[in-house]
Amino acid sequence: MDHLDRRELPDWIPGTAGEDVMTVHKVCDGRPVCGAIGEVAEWRRAISCSACLTTG
Ligand SMILES: [Zn+2]
Repeated sequence: MDHLDRRELPDWIPGTAGEDVMTVHKVCDGRPVCGAIGEVAEWRRAISCSACLTTG
């Protein structure tokens, strides 16, 4: 089995970081994948961070 192939399901959740609640990042393992810092809050919104969109 190829356990690296997990493209069927996203391994991230949408969320904001810090006080910037307008930018929704892909959050994986509690951290935005683009490297944004700040307290992460989960949001059920579309990803709006361009860096996160191109990262994964
Ligand atoms: Zn981001």
